[in-house]
Amino acid sequence: MLPRLRRIVLDVDEADSFRAALEIIVQGVCEALGTEVASIYLRDPQRSAFVFAATEGLNTELVGRFAMPEDDGLIGLVARRAEPINLQDAMAHPAFHFVEAIGEEPFGAFLGVPIIHHRTVLGVLVVQQRAQRRFDEAEESFLVTLAAQVAAAINHARATGELRTVMGAASRQPDRILAGIAGSPGIAIGQAVVVSQVANLDAVPDRAIDDVDPELRLFDRAIEAVRGDIQRISEEFSGSLPPEELALFDAYLHMLDDSAIAGDVRRYIHQRQWAQGALRQVIREHLRRFESMEDSYLRERGSDVRDLGIRVLSYLQDIKTRRVHFPADTILVGDDVTPSLLANVPAERLKAIVSLRGSRNSHVSILARALGIPAVMGAVDLPLLRLDGERLIVDGNYGEVTLDPSPVRLAEYDLLLKEEEAFSQELEALREQPCITLDGQRVRLWVNIGLTGDISRSLDRGAEGIGLFRTEIPFMTQEQFPSEAEQRAVYRKHMEAFEPRPVTMRTLDIGGDKSLPYFPIHEENPFLGWRGIRVTLDHPEIFMVQVRAMLAANAGLDGVLRIMLPMVSSVHEIDEAKALVDRALREVNEEGATVKPPQLGVMIEVPAAVYQADLLAKRTDFLAVGSNDLTQYMLAVDRNNPRVAPLYQDLHPAVLNALREVGRAAHRQAKPVGICGELASTPTGAVLLMAMGYDVLSMNATHLPRIKWILQRISRTGGRRLLARVLKMQTAEEVHAFMLRELHGLGLSRALPRPVTELANGEPLSRTA
Ligand code: PEP
Ligand code: MG
Repeated sequence: MLPRLRRIVLDVDEADSFRAALEIIVQGVCEALGTEVASIYLRDPQRSAFVFAATEGLNTELVGRFAMPEDDGLIGLVARRAEPINLQDAMAHPAFHFVEAIGEEPFGAFLGVPIIHHRTVLGVLVVQQRAQRRFDEAEESFLVTLAAQVAAAINHARATGELRTVMGAASRQPDRILAGIAGSPGIAIGQAVVVSQVANLDAVPDRAIDDVDPELRLFDRAIEAVRGDIQRISEEFSGSLPPEELALFDAYLHMLDDSAIAGDVRRYIHQRQWAQGALRQVIREHLRRFESMEDSYLRERGSDVRDLGIRVLSYLQDIKTRRVHFPADTILVGDDVTPSLLANVPAERLKAIVSLRGSRNSHVSILARALGIPAVMGAVDLPLLRLDGERLIVDGNYGEVTLDPSPVRLAEYDLLLKEEEAFSQELEALREQPCITLDGQRVRLWVNIGLTGDISRSLDRGAEGIGLFRTEIPFMTQEQFPSEAEQRAVYRKHMEAFEPRPVTMRTLDIGGDKSLPYFPIHEENPFLGWRGIRVTLDHPEIFMVQVRAMLAANAGLDGVLRIMLPMVSSVHEIDEAKALVDRALREVNEEGATVKPPQLGVMIEVPAAVYQADLLAKRTDFLAVGSNDLTQYMLAVDRNNPRVAPLYQDLHPAVLNALREVGRAAHRQAKPVGICGELASTPTGAVLLMAMGYDVLSMNATHLPRIKWILQRISRTGGRRLLARVLKMQTAEEVHAFMLRELHGLGLSRALPRPVTELANGEPLSRTA
């Protein structure tokens, strides 16, 4: 059964439309189970009904035209119970309801399984047979497995609007709104430019071309380059591999012939598909053939085809990168938008980011916030391949993307955009003002920095210091570890620009989702692995060079240098790092520079550090909470995984309690405490942290003026009252709703994200939490 299942799933993946996919499923099921009827009923929540959406064996003319009430018959029962119902004699069941209209006959055997996506029943997959027989366990498992696999396709169609067409409700087509995760706030309207990470075949979009010849030439060059590579590798191995293994390289070369892959790709290019899209199509077709083979050896050969495809694609992209056109209102869209993909777009043209992968705390979201552009992450249902050039609205406040918006929706968003722009201009006046609450509490607002261009952006917005210099970012753009002199120059530039303000340099924080191209780290659980201080203590040579560069960069300047250690989970790490910093200071001074001892601080990012915050504060000069990581480790939720994104809650009462404890511990030891996680840049987070007595809130420059505006309009006493209420709450949802209500009540609405209230057709928007 497994090959059949695999075959159906592969065919569904390849289907031209959602309707075709449903037909493939019902036909495939009938064949696999040797049954007379297979049908799919899809739930239409607006009509509280199940729509007869596809069938093999019943009346196909009524597909999309017939619906039955949600709680009716066996279909309704399967959905309500959310589990399979397997009956030998369906007609004897009290819930049985004979539906002659769709061609039902007195069927005996019935097996219905729910189609469930993320706990929601989307539909029911049913098989029926005249004879009275019980479907066996293997058949039931087959249907359950298939239903689970097609649930994602159905959900995708729901998101893209195709579902409505199939369900016959196409006449009143509303805007197609896809829900993702709010990665970076703000709104943008623009044109999608779909980019793919180098050589990601699955992310290559369709793109029509006018001129076939240049595309063919491009493809020929890529094929020639890959042939050259294979021949070279084959020669290199000729002495060390046996002839039967070397024959593999010949097989590769044959696959690239015109009689195989290359010929097929050329045919698609002649049909005006660009070379990359044509390659993706052909490789997929070949892969499908291999993957549906019964013989496991042959099936495995599919990976060779994929490998070849990736090689050709990487050459095509190499040749092509220079030619991508970025319009003035570019919305960068991709399967996995990474910081390096961002770097290809001229900053003034980049209006927003939409990524299928990633989440609110992925580094690309953090960069988007630093750049002040909206981002929607984890938009897993985006029809990526058909999106290039399409007009989009990106709502980074609510994590929504509208595809091809209606004029009414465009007008509404235009209005919001104008309001936001006017508010931002007003905020410019706050630049020189200190951040003091209504009752005189001073809060330091510093910036998180790392990108080029951050310096002027930060100073323009009135930053009073650098609270987090992510030193790994300049490391990422190099081809090898930067030398001490190179590092010193980068650090000095920042210190001079901020002089006499304090500058907090974090030591190299790689690992997790931040790897350096020249220092790859491959681990099963990278976030629980070799990260931050663990890497640099294992490589004291890297640590020493960096710390020496930081110290030397500060020579002769008045601004305080603060060195901060990431991912600390034990006091030993502080002791070891401190010894290295002392040694570096001695060395630099012995070499003739006059450098003051830096302040040494520790990031609280791991639950263990929360419980040892007193000890850590005693050993260091300051504490700084990295709430992005602290949240992921306290709640055991990967900060990058969109599937668990709703569980990543930095307002979770457990996290808030931890933050309060860290603040208290630092102050018990008479040490300052700050926060440099993203929580500090949210209105709710900033107010609660101010109330907890945090001395420094460090955030991206974009949000700094807005946070200042809010804190200037609230008192510490008022904030404490809110905090006291919040600390008694049980869930993040409660905290969020309460704080939003209170902040609106305090007249701070202008600084809070405003929703578009209604759709063009009058349907209210459904918001994800
Ligand atoms: C954090 O974890 O909160 C933090 C500031 O560090 P990063 O986001 O770079 O991991
Ligand atoms: Mg961190």
